[in-house]
Amino acid sequence: MDRVTSSYSADSAQSVAPVSQTLFARAAEVTPGGVNSPVRAFGAVGGTPRFMVSGSGAYLTDADGREYVDLVCSWGPMILGHSHPGVLDAVRAAVERGTSFGTPTPGEVELAEEIVARVAPVERVRLVSSGTEATMSAIRLARGFTGRAKVIKFAGCYHGHVDALLASAGSGVATFGLPDTPGVTGAQAGETVVLPYNDLAAVRAAFAAHPGEIACVITEAVPGNMGVVPPKAGFNQGLKDLCAAHGALLISDEVMTGFRLSAAGWFGLEGVVPDLITFGKVMGGGFPAAAFGGRADVMDRLAPAGPVYQAGTLSGNPVATAAGLAQLRLLDDAAYAALDATSAELRGLASLALAKEGVAHTISAAGNMFSVFFTADEVTDFAGAKAQDTFRYTAFFHAMLERGVYLPPSAFEAWFVSTAHDERALERIAAALPAAARAAAEATQATEDPETTA
Ligand SMILES: *Cc1c(COP(=O)(O)O)cnc(C)c1O
Repeated sequence: MDRVTSSYSADSAQSVAPVSQTLFARAAEVTPGGVNSPVRAFGAVGGTPRFMVSGSGAYLTDADGREYVDLVCSWGPMILGHSHPGVLDAVRAAVERGTSFGTPTPGEVELAEEIVARVAPVERVRLVSSGTEATMSAIRLARGFTGRAKVIKFAGCYHGHVDALLASAGSGVATFGLPDTPGVTGAQAGETVVLPYNDLAAVRAAFAAHPGEIACVITEAVPGNMGVVPPKAGFNQGLKDLCAAHGALLISDEVMTGFRLSAAGWFGLEGVVPDLITFGKVMGGGFPAAAFGGRADVMDRLAPAGPVYQAGTLSGNPVATAAGLAQLRLLDDAAYAALDATSAELRGLASLALAKEGVAHTISAAGNMFSVFFTADEVTDFAGAKAQDTFRYTAFFHAMLERGVYLPPSAFEAWFVSTAHDERALERIAAALPAAARAAAEATQATEDPETTA
């Protein structure tokens, strides 16, 4: 995958973040690229990643003692803000009882019941430890259930680093079954059909071209990994209808949107009933917990009830499930209303600041999730997302960072708010925006290859 040669000068980042700079150099000696997940390395925006040492409410503090309003929220999980007392109390109590037993525990039952109660299409649910595991297992189950091999996914949709799904997963060219990364074989990606997002005609054509071969269609409920690109009205229902007509399963990946956009995620807002749904992020309360669930007749094909194997040493970990359960129970209607209001206010502030400086932009939102595309055109697919001026985002990002606002370090990511983002946090963002909008307006293209994301 290519990387942008950022026009951003690393010197100023070093001057404000010497401890982060030292840590990053040490990390690079012992960890590939100095990070444990690529986007954290600031590859898309340049400069020095900030090593965070603590978080409280809407704020993060880095190793140099600088405080930031956090608009990443750990890529979604910290929906109640950092170190929420209700979550921490539950975690402390769980830790005191022991950290892992390798047996069933009461907390797993309670968390599964909470998920089933919230999300109507989920009759049975299996807990795992990451979103990647959830989608990987859901695909295996769909193949096991249907006895078919092929999987349809959409360009720009990310479903974790599952081999078969690392084809056009938020970067690279939208090509038929061509792996995005070395290490994924043609055979692993060859059963994956990659189609443009929001294009039902392409899905219809793929079903016609591969009769009786397609096990499932997997889609992000609302794509958030190419920036936020909402499904067109009728798109998800159209997927459901095509799957039903052809004996395939629809897997709605709600790892990002689940329990974030409403008590029942995007399903709760849109109402399209998939066969399987994957969850992660919010349901772990900041710990590694994820899940997949859906129709009982499909889920009951999983071992030990059925023949499709799936397992995990730390699945349903008692500390992670306690954190997730506490977080879900705190997410009531008032919390979702507050998230929606905060998101709307923030979108308004960002748009106003950019408009004042004449910066072409489109704010694309679904529920409380949104992203800012630096293009005047509406974005409906990955090609549209890539057509934005990413160099403007780079300038905007660093200007915000210098003023104490932590945005996602890539133009192809959603911005995340929490219930802890109060008026004080919004005022700090509002104060940073005019200079950042000016920086975006003044930015110039300094790279040969703008089509990139980390
Ligand atoms: C984050 C994400 C994943 C992967 O989850 P991990 O816990 O990082 O493995 C899968 N699908 C979607 C839609 C995501 O946003």
